[in-house]
Amino acid sequence: MEQLSIFDIFKIGVGPSSSHTLGPWKAALAFRNTLTAFSFDNVSITLYGSLSKTGKGHKTDVAIQLGLAGLIPETTNTCEMERILDQIKITETLFFDSRSISFSPLMHIDFCNSLHEAHPNVLTFRATKKEETVLEQTYTSLGGGFIKLLGDSEPEKKKIDFPFSIENGADVLRYTQDNSLDFYEIVFQNEQHIRTAKQIDFKLQEIYDTMKQSVYKGCITEGVLPGGLKVKRRARALCSKLLEEHQYKTIDAWEEALRKTPLVFDTLNTWISCFALAVNEQNAAMGKIVTSPTNGAAGVIPAVLLYHQYFAKNKGFEDVKKFLLIAGEIGCMFKKGATISAAEGGCQAEIGVSSAMAAGGLTACMGGSTKQILMAAEIAMEHHLGLTCDPIHGLVQVPCIERNSMGAIKAIMASNLALNGNPEDAIVNFDQVVKTMWETGLAMNSNFKETSEGGLAINVAVSFPSC
Ligand code: SF4
Repeated sequence: MEQLSIFDIFKIGVGPSSSHTLGPWKAALAFRNTLTAFSFDNVSITLYGSLSKTGKGHKTDVAIQLGLAGLIPETTNTCEMERILDQIKITETLFFDSRSISFSPLMHIDFCNSLHEAHPNVLTFRATKKEETVLEQTYTSLGGGFIKLLGDSEPEKKKIDFPFSIENGADVLRYTQDNSLDFYEIVFQNEQHIRTAKQIDFKLQEIYDTMKQSVYKGCITEGVLPGGLKVKRRARALCSKLLEEHQYKTIDAWEEALRKTPLVFDTLNTWISCFALAVNEQNAAMGKIVTSPTNGAAGVIPAVLLYHQYFAKNKGFEDVKKFLLIAGEIGCMFKKGATISAAEGGCQAEIGVSSAMAAGGLTACMGGSTKQILMAAEIAMEHHLGLTCDPIHGLVQVPCIERNSMGAIKAIMASNLALNGNPEDAIVNFDQVVKTMWETGLAMNSNFKETSEGGLAINVAVSFPSC
């Protein structure tokens, strides 16, 4: 069984896509690290399948350059990214420690348009010397920033003996009942097999702070998103309206002000939408976000978590911790039993999974039982089944940004239904919906799996110079 930590699901990174930006970036970095042992005078990259069809809109070529240049996605800031990209563009040179080679993305990155037999998302790196291949590596990008080097037996080579080896919802129910533990407690015990309790808390706080920062930055930034579709940012206008045009210069002042807004349905609904839009506008602009479980769906969990933190009765960091531990484990179960890649399962695998994760996390914080947590996650996914991925012009903007608001609202509604329902009466259980999502993804036409060859991507006419 694949062993995953919740920190494999929650990763700090930059937008716009986990499978098409973060994954290729990590693959390029891994290739660069292997390359240090070789002598070479040329590097080229071939992109296959969905990576070739929507890679331009998803900034795959940009991510590859940053990875080949040795930048690390978790720690790189926007200024550093821009400096490196300008350097490559102006000098047409890639620097490898003491070496440098001539490199032009237009010449050396091939969007080859054909499908690779291994997976819908494949990229091959090739280094040559005097036109002879000295190193070739082919990676699959599996969604959520996960990559696999073809020929390697285990993705990410993880083998951890967790005390509670969780594959599905039935395992969760068995462990919690047999050991009289809460769901979040078994996840926390598993995580302590990898890190100390203090390290886990530190990482969870870092994840939470990054989520809050992405919401705040989205709420104070206006303008038009890059890529050519001329999508106007909306989170700032919504935020200004809710705060009656007052501007706040620090995140603390902003938080204090928004906590005082009236707790009426319309206002809360607008805040939730605003939080989700803010994160995904940042994501579309290559801002820093938390992949959760993917970048395209990165707004759902912050929106629901902040809704709980700002407007519901909460216990501060203890609830943040409970929320993220449970949401993360639900994401792990979808990754193991189905997929979190839109190229494999359509948007149900991105927004659907993030909505199920958020529904479970919220239900735990609201005092729900383990059965109610799984019921909430099931309900949230059940009403995303069949959701296609059809981003216009291959950009993670339309329908993606709004879709995060929808995923957040459905998560809250699913939690509400579970908290007010009896899991013993439920007709569908969590494991059945995971299996159904996977089978629906397999049956889905490839036009609707992150290729921009169907749906809105072909029915909405756009005309502008290629981005
Ligand atoms: S449509 Fe959904 S799955 Fe596809 S890129 Fe947008 S958010 Fe991701």
